[in-house]
Amino acid sequence: MASSSAAAHCHPKVVIIMGATGCGKSRLSIDLASHFRSAEVINSDKMQVYRGLDITTNKIAPADRRGVPHHLLGSLDPDDGEMTPSQFRSLGDAAISDVASRGSLPLLVGGSTSSILALLAERFVPEEDVFGGLGPPARPELRYHCCFLWVDVSLPILKKCLPKRVDGMLRMGAFDELARYYDLRRTDPGGRAGLRKAIGVPEFDQYFEKYPPRGVGPGDAWEPEDARERDNDPVREGAYQEALREIKKNAGQLMKRQIMKIRQLSESGWELHRLDATEAVRLATAPEEEDVWKRQVLEPSVEIVNQFLQEK
Ligand code: ATP
Repeated sequence: MASSSAAAHCHPKVVIIMGATGCGKSRLSIDLASHFRSAEVINSDKMQVYRGLDITTNKIAPADRRGVPHHLLGSLDPDDGEMTPSQFRSLGDAAISDVASRGSLPLLVGGSTSSILALLAERFVPEEDVFGGLGPPARPELRYHCCFLWVDVSLPILKKCLPKRVDGMLRMGAFDELARYYDLRRTDPGGRAGLRKAIGVPEFDQYFEKYPPRGVGPGDAWEPEDARERDNDPVREGAYQEALREIKKNAGQLMKRQIMKIRQLSESGWELHRLDATEAVRLATAPEEEDVWKRQVLEPSVEIVNQFLQEK
């Protein structure tokens, strides 16, 4: 069980799970929450905070949450515009207090490093670009008692897995999700502003401008695109493939930026406990993967969190 001192301490204890997209942060959060039983996840991915585009933004599916409560996941209305770091700071703080007040351990999970920093720093200056300087950022004082877990995967392995991940998301319905989203914005051009930068949206906008989703008139039922239409039209298929290439390229760049920012934080003096999930990600669906994940990522994490919970 998580220590009830998380609630009693004037600086609540928070475990932060960081890492680039595709490293296994969500999996680790659920494994840890199941192990410690009394733990709840607070999302810190700035696109997953919004309602909608669940597949495109890679939100953990309800069935995979295994009953672990999640906060700030799909809870904001994208029509309300882009969430600022200041807003995330106050929403995240309220969520941490709420979880800690129940004697549960808050697990802050997500890849938006700037948002994480905005939430955790004792002193937050909205105008300051912490990662903008040449060297590592100055180490900020923290307003919680923090334990950082960094799920790290070597960039070449992450990049190798990326095309498959993106293709998988498309198969699971990301294309239809994006088509519906495009359709909604046609009737309400300023709408869904919060999600407009999510990777997948700008990349597919050009495709949908040329090949609008069907059923865009008022009252028309929306119809998913038949992939055969692309098979019979090489120009259309080319435009679709171009959007996919852009998504993969931009997701690759996001991974690189995320890793760079985490390294900068580590160089600035934050004690980040690095868990190497490279082998587990490389093994993907191989039978021995489960065992490697347990040995190289989960068990060391449990030990680190156990020690942290014992700290005064
Ligand atoms: P920045 O300093 O750029 O704000 P950050 O660390 O605060 O970076 P990131 O989470 O790296 O924020 O997000 C930067 C951009 O990456 C987003 O604006 C969006 O385009 C894309 N992005 C991040 N997370 C997702 C996601 N889950 N799905 C789709 N796109 C995402």
